[in-house]
Parts: sequence; C-alpha cells; structure tokens
Amino acid sequence: METKITRRDLLNGIVIGAGGSFLQAYSGRAVGNPAGTAGFEPNAMPSYYPPTLTGMRGSHDGSYEVAHALAWQGQKPKTYETLDEHYDLVVVGAGMSGLAAAWYYLKEMAPETRILILDNHDDFGGHAKRNEFHYKDRMLLSLGGAQNLESPSSYSDAAGSLMIDIGIDEQAIAQMDANTPDNFVLGGKLNADVGLTVPEKDQHLTLGGHWLKFFHGRGDYQSAVGKLPIPDDQKETLIAFFGGDKDFLDDLSLTEKWDYVNSVSYNQFLFDRVGLSKETIPILNAHLVILNGPSGWNHTVLEAIMAGSPGLRAMGWLADFVDSIAALLLDDIAG
Ligand SMILES: Cc1cc2nc3c(=O)[nH]c(=O)nc-3n(C[C@H](O)[C@H](O)[C@H](O)COP(=O)(O)OP(=O)(O)OC[C@H]3O[C@@H](n4cnc5c(N)ncnc54)[C@H](O)[C@@H]3O)c2cc1C
Repeated sequence: METKITRRDLLNGIVIGAGGSFLQAYSGRAVGNPAGTAGFEPNAMPSYYPPTLTGMRGSHDGSYEVAHALAWQGQKPKTYETLDEHYDLVVVGAGMSGLAAAWYYLKEMAPETRILILDNHDDFGGHAKRNEFHYKDRMLLSLGGAQNLESPSSYSDAAGSLMIDIGIDEQAIAQMDANTPDNFVLGGKLNADVGLTVPEKDQHLTLGGHWLKFFHGRGDYQSAVGKLPIPDDQKETLIAFFGGDKDFLDDLSLTEKWDYVNSVSYNQFLFDRVGLSKETIPILNAHLVILNGPSGWNHTVLEAIMAGSPGLRAMGWLADFVDSIAALLLDDIAG
C-alpha cells in the first residue's frame, strides 16, 4: 500500500517528546519556602527530583495551605519576609504559559532584565512534565503530562518563533529523526512497529511487531497472537476478533448496534460478546490506559474504537467497510 501520511506531513504535524532542557536559559536562583509556608522547601531536600514523584499527585502538600487558609478562613500568613529585591516582571505560575510569557518579555527587553517566576509546586512545567520509573536497573521514561506539540506548522509567527528560540527547529527534528531507530514510534516514525507489553506475574513481557496493524487484522496477526502467553482458545478468539471473521453483534439491527456501542463499556463487550477472559482483556487495554488514562471499563465501545482499539472489523460488513476506508487513509493500520 502506498504511504498516505508521509514523514514530512508528520513532522509538519506533530513533534513528539519536547524536553525541558531549554529552561536552563532561565535557571537562576530557585527560591523555596515562601512566606507563611515554613517547612515547604522541596528543592532543599537531598532526594529532590520531581520526575520520580509519579502518580496522580495533583496539588501536593505545601502548595495550597496558604491560599486555602486565606480563602476559607480569612487567615493571612503569620509571617512575612520582605525581600529587598527588584524585578521588572513577576510571573505567577511556571507552566508553559508563564515560562513563555517570561521568554517573550526577556526577548523584548534588555538582557539584564530581572524576572521572577513564582510557582507553588515542587517543579516547573505545570501540566507538562516528565515521569521516570526505575525498574530492575531500567529507567522507563513517560509523559507526566503534555507529550506532543500538536500541528506546529499552523502556529502563529509568535508561537513558531518560540519553538525556534528554544531549539526545536528543523535541524533538531532532523537530528531526532536520525537518532530514532526505524522500529521506534518516535520523532515521526508513525509507520514503525508498535510493540505490545503484556503484564506478567512479576515482570512485563514485551512483544515486538506492529500491533496497531495486528489489532485491525492486517499484517501477520495470526503469528503475533500465537506468541501471546494466553490459552489456545483465547488465541483463536483474538484472531477471529482482529480479522473480522465474525460479527459479534450479529443479533442486533444497525440502530441497535449504534445504541450498543454508545452505551456498553468496551471491556463488557469483550467479555460478554467476544468471549475474552478477564486475564486476556488487559492486553487490549494497555494502549487505552497509556492514551487516555482509564481502562476499557471506562470507555464505551465506540470511544475505545475511536482511540484505535480493535473491534470495528468484528461488527458486521458496514463497520468492516469503515475500517477499510480508514486503512486507505492511515498507513498505520494498512496491510
Ligand atoms: C496528561 C496530559 C497530557 C497532555 N498532553 C498534551 C499534549 O500532548 N499536547 C498539548 O499540546 N497539550 C497537552 N496537554 C495540555 C497541556 O499540558 C496544557 O495545556 C499546558 O501544560 C497548560 O500550560 P499552562 O502554563 O497554561 O498551565 P499549567 O501547566 O497548569 O501551569 C500553571 C502553573 O501555575 C502554577 N500555579 C497554580 N496556582 C498557583 C499559585 N497560586 N501560585 C503560584 N503558582 C501557581 C502551577 O503549579 C503550574 O506550574 C496535556 C495535559 C495533560 C494533563
């Protein structure tokens, strides 16, 4: 099949994995322990390293007490520290917006301009940060928030110039492309293998291959499914499901199918209709969890399919036809 989405299109469209290194440009003195939050000085702790503080942390202890006391009890902080310092700009919030505001201001002003960026959390970046997991001598890197720079080709001149200023330019993208192995989905190699990681008792089994294609019954999905650590009858069911050998909703009319996919959870569908066991279902949930957070118990069938989960080919001829049209447009799932 001819490639319909080219590397160039992709690079114009998405840049994945921008890091935080550009922030070194700002790195001045980090001021901890703001007035009234004695003891909140996370960066003074020897173990201070936010990327390993993973999980759904939200606003952690130390970040909200002063504001809550003021808003809910009208209590002002008991102690204040008067700083004999002058700043040309004070930015509240060191997320992307605050950091960008500081950058634009600095560009307009003299280099000696003094900017204070305040944040009430233990790390900069706001909703865009990095998570690190350390397991058996391996470091697994994951997004803690934002991951993709969506469609930078349509950015305004102002936003585009920021990308260039912080070093995300054509040269950086070409370098990222050159450094990315052909079988890694990174830096625009959407056509590369998308491996599958299956949770096992005390470790994870990672299986190579283009599982996005296999999910849609394309490529050598039978052999790939054959390598999964599941019973033979579950392998046969998965092969029929991926390949669209059967309509698992064949007792429903078209309107009833539409109601079903909009009201039943994806995992319930896999369990009741497809016949997958509760041990097999997590295999099909991994990418939903990575992409959206919740598992297939919290997605309707349609929501899961729209997120790329398998199933469209196994709901009758019309759905199979839609899947084929999608394959014509998206090289990712084409055979
Ligand atoms: C899981 C996830 C994935 C995402 N993926 C993408 C993606 O792939 N591509 C994309 O473009 N966008 C993505 N987003 C959205 C993107 O991350 C946000 O739109 C962006 O980070 C918002 O930046 P911001 O600076 O406007 O706000 P925030 O990042 O929320 O920054 C606000 C900052 O203000 C600080 N703050 C709050 N209250 C106070 C206070 N009282 N005093 C001082 N400081 C305070 C906070 O600590 C924070 O650092 C994602 C978001 C999440 C959560």
